[in-house]
Amino acid sequence: MSSPSAPSQLSPDPFRLPDHVRPTRYDVRLQPSLADATFSGEVSIELNVEEPTTSIVLNAIELEIEAAQIDGVDVEWSLDESTERMTVTVNDPITAPTATLFVRFSGILNDKLRGFYRSTYIDDDGAEHVIATTQMQATDCRRAFPCWDEPAFKAVFGITLDIEEGLTAISNGSEIERLSGAGRTVIRFADTMIMSSYLVAFVVGRLETTDPVDVDGIPLRVVHVPGKSELTQFGLDVGAFCLRWFQDYYDIDYPSDKVDLVALPDFAAGAMENLGCITFRENLLLIDPERSTQHERQLVADVVAHELAHMWFGDLVTMDWWNGIWLNEAFATFMEIAACDAFAPDWERWTSFGLERSVAFDVDSLASTRSVEFEVRSPAEADGMFDVLTYQKGGALLRMLEQYLGATEFRTGVSHYLRKHAYANTDTNDLWDAIEATSGEPVRRLMDSWIWQPGFPLIAAALTDIGGVPHLELRQERFTYGDADSGTSWVIPVHIRTGSGTQIVVIDSNDPVTMPVSSSDDLVVVNAGGHGFFRVAYGPELRTRLADPRSLSELDTLERYSLVDDAWAATVAGRIPAADLLVLLEGFVNEREYGVWQAVTIALGGLSRLVDGDALDAFRSRVRNLVAPALDSLGDPSPDEPDLTGKLRGLLTSTMGSLGRDTATRQRCRDLFTSARNGMPVDAELLSAATTVVARAGDKDDYDHMFSGFTHGATPQDKLRHLYALAEFDDAELVARTCELAMSDAVKTQNAPFLLRSTIANRRHGAASWEFVKAHWDEANERFPANTIVRMVDAVKLLTAPGAVDDAARFFAQHPIDQAAQTLEQILERQRVNTALLARDQAAFAMFLLDASNQPR
Ligand SMILES: [Zn+2]
Repeated sequence: MSSPSAPSQLSPDPFRLPDHVRPTRYDVRLQPSLADATFSGEVSIELNVEEPTTSIVLNAIELEIEAAQIDGVDVEWSLDESTERMTVTVNDPITAPTATLFVRFSGILNDKLRGFYRSTYIDDDGAEHVIATTQMQATDCRRAFPCWDEPAFKAVFGITLDIEEGLTAISNGSEIERLSGAGRTVIRFADTMIMSSYLVAFVVGRLETTDPVDVDGIPLRVVHVPGKSELTQFGLDVGAFCLRWFQDYYDIDYPSDKVDLVALPDFAAGAMENLGCITFRENLLLIDPERSTQHERQLVADVVAHELAHMWFGDLVTMDWWNGIWLNEAFATFMEIAACDAFAPDWERWTSFGLERSVAFDVDSLASTRSVEFEVRSPAEADGMFDVLTYQKGGALLRMLEQYLGATEFRTGVSHYLRKHAYANTDTNDLWDAIEATSGEPVRRLMDSWIWQPGFPLIAAALTDIGGVPHLELRQERFTYGDADSGTSWVIPVHIRTGSGTQIVVIDSNDPVTMPVSSSDDLVVVNAGGHGFFRVAYGPELRTRLADPRSLSELDTLERYSLVDDAWAATVAGRIPAADLLVLLEGFVNEREYGVWQAVTIALGGLSRLVDGDALDAFRSRVRNLVAPALDSLGDPSPDEPDLTGKLRGLLTSTMGSLGRDTATRQRCRDLFTSARNGMPVDAELLSAATTVVARAGDKDDYDHMFSGFTHGATPQDKLRHLYALAEFDDAELVARTCELAMSDAVKTQNAPFLLRSTIANRRHGAASWEFVKAHWDEANERFPANTIVRMVDAVKLLTAPGAVDDAARFFAQHPIDQAAQTLEQILERQRVNTALLARDQAAFAMFLLDASNQPR
């Protein structure tokens, strides 16, 4: 374990601004020119001068500075591009306790989706329109105006925008003044609370806003490009629900005067928690509930909830430095699931979070994983924090803590933390200490073992006899896909259910823990409820008991999910042969819960990549036998069925049609796809499944229909469904066409990297797609947002043909991804793990499948 060290006092820190001069208030006035993608501006910054000084250092980059004054007197300035700093110097020391720095500047609206940037859309008449918008996190506010661009320099921001008449402008605060004349409009916005520069936002363009919804006195609106007002109601409903829910949960009023949810055509991240002016990708806010899948609606609900959760946790109370990003995002993820679960209880959001947690488990099983928190000196070092270990593992750790303490205790601690540190900055320990103070539990010791150590434990559970009494023995070790590691231990609260009820046992060393069980044939569930961030390996006796169909029906959905997911991970790790896993999966033929099928189908997908030819045909037949009873039992969609029933029908249909290659299902999918094309209403879950199934078996005509669905789709979700289906075709020429398309202007640069990722994941044509990406590497790096490059190559981990590992290693040795070096290392290690799995299990699994005596009975 380690903790961040204090910055050196000896030499100026290149990453932390000196703090003897601190801003208290900014008055920013900006005049963007959309037509030529430029802007000019002025900023007046009120300063506290804590000791006499002849220099003031702040951040600025890619700005043309035209004038600088202190208290109305012209002063010298210099810019240092390497440190992104502006230094203002005076001859006589500033001795007054306060001063005002004025700077006049100009800049360009860039196309890199950072700072003050340009987004575009085409209207119904084919004309292109420009939106000037912002994305400041982490350190790009300095590209919009000179500022103290570090989270701990909190100040009030007063924003004024001078725009062309007829455009719409919004910012963090409400509009409070508007002056028009000479073809321009000057809009002044209400002051923000004191906050960090990375939360500043302004958006200017030809935009529409909904009427405000009054949420207990707070006006809530959705802002969007013209013509999409019919897609706003769901976002407003979720927003209003969450705004009330969070005020109640935190027991603190919303800290600003209004909320605008802004859908943008170009956005590098998913969404951004700018105070009162939250920006989103269009498909994460604008949706038609009648024509979308549950997953698509859930994404909108998740993201709206996530960003609103930040208004308190992140915006009101902010990390002191970028090492705290993990807690900011982990907490917002936890709250997102909690709020979404309250918004739509029948979605069973904590159960589906199991899948997201599994994605974190997967990375955290690698030698190249990292600890959740780590020391961060330069802001760039924190770029690697925006990953599954921060969001999903971090969120899961908070869920485990909440379930250990109890929901009320946890919430009381969080509320105490937010009140104590409102308008200020904190370290991770401040949260643990606050929850410790209100709950009396040793929270810091428990959480430190999870956030400062990489990896996670596997708990081995077995029955043993002590003095004639049956006992359960539990032992922890680190779970890895490679060599086991000894010595690491975690403080693990383990929920255990036996015949006599559920109890929590805390395991805090590598020594085994034993407890009596009432009867030696008791059903024992370790990680009862399924909330712990660990995997479980049951001894043979306990496993046999659990796998019995009668026992399975006594487990809740997340417990059954975990049983399957742990087994799949054990196969990847070489602990359970592929054939044994398939037999275990076939035991779920009576399963009817979506969450469990999610785990089953992921494992089936992984197994399918181990075999080819006749063995693959035999495997497909077993998939059909496993899936058919559940799919048949669902029958046709009905209007009042639960959302998860429709979702399960969609999942099983696509599994049957794609993995199972079932002829009847494929025909049905084709019929549904055609009906939808002809304007007939088709159940959205089935249509989404049918789109993938048709693409995977499709020809050139189908490709053209998909393409037209992408360009003419009625909703953002519709367009994306068709776009990503273009990567699924089983035809070299068509997949190559998709790769070319991704590099063209027809696909937004926010989506193109994900399209290319899907082409690399294509089972038969992934290798050729990877060759394409390599050949276009420089172009891709120039075109696409920097944070998406590593996501584009994520599917390289699926390339397991002979030589593929060496080829990828060689390529990235010459083409490193500096902004995501560790994530890249994880992808390459995962590729080696997949290659080893194939080498280890391929032959035996094929023999098992082809041996008629192994057919399921
Ligand atoms: Zn967030």
